[in-house]
Amino acid sequence: MVNFIAKATKFSDMPNYDYHSHSFYSDGVLSPEALIDRAIVKGVEYLALTDHDSLTGLEVASEYIRKNSIDLSLINGVEISAGTEYGEIHIVGLGIYPENKALESQLHLQRQARWERAERIDAKLKKCRVDGVLEHLKSEVHQVVTRTHIARSIKALGYVNDLQQAFKKYIGKGGRAKVAQQWIPMEHSIALIKEAGGIAVLAHPTRYPLSNRKLALLIESFAQNGGEGIEMSYPSINKDKADWLEIHRSKNNLLASGGSDFHYPDLKWSDLGRFPEISRETPHVSNKLKKSA
Ligand code: AMP
Ligand code: MN
Ligand code: MN
Ligand code: MN
Repeated sequence: MVNFIAKATKFSDMPNYDYHSHSFYSDGVLSPEALIDRAIVKGVEYLALTDHDSLTGLEVASEYIRKNSIDLSLINGVEISAGTEYGEIHIVGLGIYPENKALESQLHLQRQARWERAERIDAKLKKCRVDGVLEHLKSEVHQVVTRTHIARSIKALGYVNDLQQAFKKYIGKGGRAKVAQQWIPMEHSIALIKEAGGIAVLAHPTRYPLSNRKLALLIESFAQNGGEGIEMSYPSINKDKADWLEIHRSKNNLLASGGSDFHYPDLKWSDLGRFPEISRETPHVSNKLKKSA
């Protein structure tokens, strides 16, 4: 493990880092190897693999880089679903040690809770005459069962034409088979990431269904509970939102992070390395990160 400081020149016109991406060990479609190959093609030099509630892809990715002497710096990451008084949020942990036992055992519990949720969703789906989802999921999922997998199963079984429809009709907000889930509390999740040597970053803050007033309170609470970073740039952000976030980032002394939240190759607007540039003057998580491969 070596500390690294990304040079200011690294943050020029085209970003060459991406601190938020998924492999098929959560709800991405690419293997960690294919993800790395794609990152190279897209000119990404610093890539954080941040699978939902799983560290499995990190080992695979770093082995692949090492064995093939690939010129890419892997940042060991994770995206943890967490509970707050403002609703569910996602926390990205960057620069964690994947060997950390406390982190892995909590993520293991979270993955079990996800399977229990899948069973509850399946029971609700059956009441909507959508049958066979749980069986289908068991044949498809590598490790972490997310609603993306559930949407894919609903589609594969022919009940909807696309994933959006599955979310809208069944498992998204207001859907007929939506169930509430208890996640690791935010404070606990931040502490786990820090104890594992990582930086806790509030993921995609403007995607939560919150008023500006509530979002400001969430950001403040995240910082007061030890959170150190906030995503300031991701594909769906616009200039007004980014300006608003900068006020709250600065007020709470948080470090900026950015990433594509890449899941699969077909969406050009959220491809690896593709998200608006963050001003070079903004204090950035890169300055605090440890290189992990
Ligand atoms: P989960 O953590 O299992 O609740 O699943 C959340 C994942 O589902 C997110 O990480 C997204 O990748 C995906 N997702 C959430 N809402 C939607 C939506 N409306 N359309 C497509 N994908 C979604
Ligand atoms: Mn996802
Ligand atoms: Mn997320
Ligand atoms: Mn994500």
